[in-house]
Amino acid sequence: FPAFYNGKYLNINEISISPLDRGFLFGDSIYEAIPVYAGKTLDEEGHIERLMEGLNSVGIISPYSSSAWRSLLEPLLDRQAVAQLIYIQVSRGNETSRKHRFPVACEPNVLMFSNSFIPPIDLNYQGCAGHLQEDFRWQRCDIKSTSLMGNVLAYQKLYRDGVANDEALLVRDGKVVEAPSSNIFAYKNGVIYTPSLGNILGGITRSINIKLAKDVGLNVVEEAPSCEFIKTAQEVWVTNSMEELKPVVSIDGEMIGDGLPGPIWRELFHAFQGLKA
Ligand code: PLP
Repeated sequence: FPAFYNGKYLNINEISISPLDRGFLFGDSIYEAIPVYAGKTLDEEGHIERLMEGLNSVGIISPYSSSAWRSLLEPLLDRQAVAQLIYIQVSRGNETSRKHRFPVACEPNVLMFSNSFIPPIDLNYQGCAGHLQEDFRWQRCDIKSTSLMGNVLAYQKLYRDGVANDEALLVRDGKVVEAPSSNIFAYKNGVIYTPSLGNILGGITRSINIKLAKDVGLNVVEEAPSCEFIKTAQEVWVTNSMEELKPVVSIDGEMIGDGLPGPIWRELFHAFQGLKA
């Protein structure tokens, strides 16, 4: 499938990356994933801004301006595809000696490729189960870094437990803060709760969800729910750029609401679909 590496559009199989790339050696790179529906990106500006802020926060100078990023994406967009995820990865560059500190001079390596997909969640989706897991990722989860061992192990635990299609709900200090590739929402008695920004990734779908909820007059409180509280919520869902809004209908075996995706999720999911056109 179509891809881009350091200034050239190529097929993904034609790209070769040096073993000295610091993304490869140290996970010293920042990534982004932008959803595209029938050739149209969803909040491209928000994604590019997050990419540039992420690069800035780890001292990688963005090789492109935000408008240059946006034009570079264009050739990867495919109107024929129902949905695509454009993956971008910017590593600090190539190392000469494998030292941890930043090299004095190196040029970032820029990789982009597109994957087509069919949005996995629709209004007939019956919901998945959630499993509380200790969050042992690093503390700077606000940075979209490719060092993803903690996230990989969280999903592997679900797979090993025979529940690969369920969701891990990551717990820090007794609070449910995030899922390994999604943000978390809980609804109870007219209020939507979602963890505040800080040590979690500021999801673009999270921001959209908050806005949609406020637009329909719902009260949104940015506060991480405790493990006890979330199990008493009437609805729980997670958000990310590929699964959009995915309902979680039980947590550690305890049913959420009546065990089916609820009306608040339905309303917000429906409103979200309207943004794709
Ligand atoms: N949290 C984590 C840890 C993620 O990896 C992701 C995205 O993959 C998200 C949240 C959701 O972010 P977005 O809505 O921008 O896809």
